[in-house]
Amino acid sequence: MPRMTSSSTPKPDRTAATLTAIPDRNCTWCKVPMTKRLVGGGLYIHYTCPKCIFQHTSKREKKR
Ligand SMILES: [Zn+2]
Repeated sequence: MPRMTSSSTPKPDRTAATLTAIPDRNCTWCKVPMTKRLVGGGLYIHYTCPKCIFQHTSKREKKR
């Protein structure tokens, strides 16, 4: 009886890696790293400053 050979290679979770792929952005006023999250289905990056609550939204650029 042939053995069940499972060639399952561990694949990295792409959804978890998206946040780390977002470039950091410092607040224009406080110069502190802003909180970032993906909006619009991952098309836009929404930055929020934890100090002055300054918000900034930028469109993600597709890497070629
Ligand atoms: Zn700020």
